[in-house]
Amino acid sequence: MTKTALVTGGAGFIGSHLCDRLLEEGYRVIAVDNLLTGSPRNLAHLRGNPRFRFLRRDINRPLRVPGRVDLVLHFASPASPKDFEVYPIQILKAGALGTHHMLGLARAHRSTFLLASTSEVYGDPRVDPQPESYWGNVNPVGIRGVYDEAKRFAEAMTMAYHRVHGLDTKIARIFNTYGPRMRPEDGRAIPNFITQALRARPLTVHGRGRQTRSFCYINDLIEGILRLTRSPTHGPINLGNPENYTILQLARRIQALTGSPSRIVYRPLPQDDPRQRRPDIRLARRLLHWSPRTGLDEGLKETIAYFHTVL
Ligand code: UDP
Repeated sequence: MTKTALVTGGAGFIGSHLCDRLLEEGYRVIAVDNLLTGSPRNLAHLRGNPRFRFLRRDINRPLRVPGRVDLVLHFASPASPKDFEVYPIQILKAGALGTHHMLGLARAHRSTFLLASTSEVYGDPRVDPQPESYWGNVNPVGIRGVYDEAKRFAEAMTMAYHRVHGLDTKIARIFNTYGPRMRPEDGRAIPNFITQALRARPLTVHGRGRQTRSFCYINDLIEGILRLTRSPTHGPINLGNPENYTILQLARRIQALTGSPSRIVYRPLPQDDPRQRRPDIRLARRLLHWSPRTGLDEGLKETIAYFHTVL
């Protein structure tokens, strides 16, 4: 029998790739999005697919869906540091009210519930790499706090539904992910640098570019999410690529791969910008037999090709 998956944030970058993959796996897919930061463009190719439905809804209100729902994947939330300043209240509501409503929906349908959490729950981490057992170092009242605390609350609520109601829950702690369908004006390092490089504008490196990140290509992440839906585990699992780069190295790679004449300029480091971030993925390797396969250059080339088509 055909299973039904409901993806909140289905018109977003990760959500839309997830819809594609679930359809490939044979699911019926319901994408829910209020299009605050998601775009119908990301789903345009699915129009007319009889197994696909799009609902323009705000998950901050309760949602009822008739029929069976086997899997609820809660990906709705603005997620770029730029959004933290533009949509702070929407972010807190998506993490709190939205998560509560989607847990309620999953409970009503006895679905499996998967929360898209984030490496931001670790804040500006004092340990490197970060294992799931690390409790984090978060400034609750800082600019980034709206996202960090929303997702920390969402994790706590998800575990409460598991413990109190016996709901089958999963928590993916997603580290920096990139690929086609990111917004050109997204504000995150990879779309910013690529857009700047392709427009022959200076690449804006924050601070001295010594802060480190690790970047996971979208297809690798989606594979990890799919495996997580099938795994019996309930606690959080890191999903990300442990290959580590400084932001300056990243900017230089993008300069080289685009062949851009753009130079690098230095801008002030934003408040609470984590100095380091790198996933410890031993748990995902062991429980999901998952690890990323796409190297940075390969993934960047695909992403640059996409940005060529949209700019
Ligand atoms: N960054 C940068 N230039 C930009 C955008 C971001 O130097 O134009 C830096 C940012 O300050 C951070 C890193 O790149 O240190 C990664 O930022 P991003 O917004 O991609 O995500 P984050 O990892 O901070 O959530």
